[in-house]
Amino acid sequence: MTITLPKPTPTIPDTRIYERRESAVRSYARAMPRQFATAQGVWMHDNQGGRYLDFLSGCSTLNYGHNHPVLKQALLDYIAGDGITHGLDLHTDAKAAFLGTLETLILKPRGLDYRAMFTGPTGTNAVEAAIKLARKVTGRELVIAFTNGFHGMTLGALACTGNASKRAGAGVPLSHVAHEPYDGYHGPDVDTADLLERRLSDPSSGLDAPAAILVETVQGEGGLNTASPEWLRKIANIAKRHGALMIVDDIQAGCGRTGSFFSFEGMGFTPDIVTLAKSLSGMGLPFALTLFRPELDQWSPGEHNGTFRGNNHAFVTATAALRHFWSDEAFQRAIARSGVLLEQRLEAMAAEHDLTVCGRGMMRGIDVGAGEIAAAITAACFEQGLIIETSGAHDEIVKVLAPLVIDDAVLSAGLDILEESVRTALTAPYDVAAE
Ligand SMILES: *Cc1c(COP(=O)(O)O)cnc(C)c1O
Repeated sequence: MTITLPKPTPTIPDTRIYERRESAVRSYARAMPRQFATAQGVWMHDNQGGRYLDFLSGCSTLNYGHNHPVLKQALLDYIAGDGITHGLDLHTDAKAAFLGTLETLILKPRGLDYRAMFTGPTGTNAVEAAIKLARKVTGRELVIAFTNGFHGMTLGALACTGNASKRAGAGVPLSHVAHEPYDGYHGPDVDTADLLERRLSDPSSGLDAPAAILVETVQGEGGLNTASPEWLRKIANIAKRHGALMIVDDIQAGCGRTGSFFSFEGMGFTPDIVTLAKSLSGMGLPFALTLFRPELDQWSPGEHNGTFRGNNHAFVTATAALRHFWSDEAFQRAIARSGVLLEQRLEAMAAEHDLTVCGRGMMRGIDVGAGEIAAAITAACFEQGLIIETSGAHDEIVKVLAPLVIDDAVLSAGLDILEESVRTALTAPYDVAAE
């Protein structure tokens, strides 16, 4: 069998229009100066015939790959039939189909009874809705978030985000959030859940009673730190004991990335509130959802509003994705298999260079120790046609977010490029001073 290899174009296209007209805030485009035109499955194509293997997947927005044929056809049929594109939050056929499918394929089989709230279409808005609701229901202000957490860029969610450079953009104080140490933050011998319990139980600790505890099971942007099931169960119990709501931000780790639809499945606790976005639409269309226990549904009509609540095109593709990938166990088995291959390959690279592997499922990376080294590796990968990015407090983790539909041969081909780039970067030390 011949393995398809990426074939990047060496020439950097004319980028003057971006330099002239697009805000300096653009980021990913700087590291990948090509003009992309089409994409299919795990491949992206630039406008000069170059082909790139996508190990970024829109930061886990394209878990089912680019333009999946089943999702694309469902959307084409819907548009051809003049299906509702925008309907505020009106009842539509597309919305009913999505809610029904969510109920029968996702919630019921997992024993979950959640109301679904369609927020504005970005992840950060789902987080805003979650923390607003927790504050409203509990009558408390403080949200406990964790070191290295990432929850979005609007002010409420940004206050829950740890990263200093992201926080710096706020321009106002980011308040009403306490950032407590995540699992493993103080090393393997300190149980940070016990520390949190101790502080919340001590009337003199200075930590107010929280409205919510907001947590990622795997920290997507914050360095692929993983929380153990035991730690998460403790956090769930702490929330319950102290009258706070547990919010799992599953925006990046959900939709199959860690192996199951929700990243917390089988761990023995049920979050009060869950946020989803990124891969929820399945095709990269903007779509976000906040799920919560029915008793918490204390919103008055329109109290959290938005023009684009419920993107009907995303309802169509999300429904198609749930039906195609989540009506039996086959997809989860495939993710588990790819996850093992990914783990083995990363462990081998780590062993060669005395590095560590982090993350779980198909959300894993390799800690190369410094952001400059990670940047050299991702740049070298891009030269070979592999799109890959970094994560972590110092951008020191090279993060593999391949589409979950990738086959073993192509995954291996991409990991060969990564392996070679890691070797080159670590054996021919990158000249930091030259940067
Ligand atoms: C991406 C992300 C968000 C924010 O989603 P946006 O669509 O970028 O607003 C929130 N939480 C987590 C865990 C994320 O990965």
